[in-house]
Amino acid sequence: MHVFNQVQPLKEYLHKHRCKGQGIGFVPTMGALHDGHISLMQRSIVENDISVCSIYVNPTQFNDKADLEKYPRTLERDIEKLDKIGCNAVFCPEDSEIYIQKPNLSFNFHHLEGVMEGKHRKGHFNGVGIVVSKLLNIVNPDKAYFGQKDLQQFVIIKNLVEDLSFDVELVCAPIIRENDGLAMSSRNVRLNDMERKEAVKLYEALLLAKESLKQGKSVTETKNDISRLFLANDIVKLEYFEVVDANSLQEIETIVHNQKISLCIAAFVGNVRLIDNVFLFD
Ligand code: AMP
Repeated sequence: MHVFNQVQPLKEYLHKHRCKGQGIGFVPTMGALHDGHISLMQRSIVENDISVCSIYVNPTQFNDKADLEKYPRTLERDIEKLDKIGCNAVFCPEDSEIYIQKPNLSFNFHHLEGVMEGKHRKGHFNGVGIVVSKLLNIVNPDKAYFGQKDLQQFVIIKNLVEDLSFDVELVCAPIIRENDGLAMSSRNVRLNDMERKEAVKLYEALLLAKESLKQGKSVTETKNDISRLFLANDIVKLEYFEVVDANSLQEIETIVHNQKISLCIAAFVGNVRLIDNVFLFD
């Protein structure tokens, strides 16, 4: 497996493969790789001749400095994991390689970022838009793989790719969970034992809400139930629970069958902010 820290050698390597007619798959990550990331990589390896993983903790998408500083970094272990599954190339640049200058450009995804993560993490999706655009331009993949875990991110990137005519096919892959249902996340390692036990309540709340809505409970009542569920919890502090259209991300008041609807949740578990989502109809 090739490990690149710089853009130019990576581009030359990929150019050689592209000239041979080989297809390139790309999985952008922030490292601290877990089985969720690995599932994206494995899919890329199956569907493409050459698979590239980027590991870059992008400072511009962190609205909270402490979160950036505490973000887990396990580069050596990540490289070993990628090598073992047959990844062809890893791109792990320094900040100076990605941000030669402070970007003049900024993205406004309007209604798509006026809800959920965008509403609670000011500037987050601008940072995501900038770094994903840069990485797509550097790697120029045929296919790029993202997780449903970050649903709003996927929808925003889909719109970015469409609006700016990036020549790439996007794949949205399912959420990989721990045995008890907790969505895998790089941030989970920051949970202490007690927090780890409580963290599963995010997923349990989503399942409860899904069941209620399917049985005909209104969206408003369901939202109230979910809020109440966490009121007396000292460890899990609910930030939002939303019922949204999975394509437009706009909040839904009435359930319509055949509409692709997502239930999305964000909460602080101790000091660790976690997100999760499920589709209402599978
Ligand atoms: P991150 O390193 O958190 O930026 O994630 C890199 C990619 O992996 C993103 O497209 C995420 O949506 C995806 N991802 C993160 N967690 C999971 C998971 N539990 N299952 C599947 N994909 C995931």
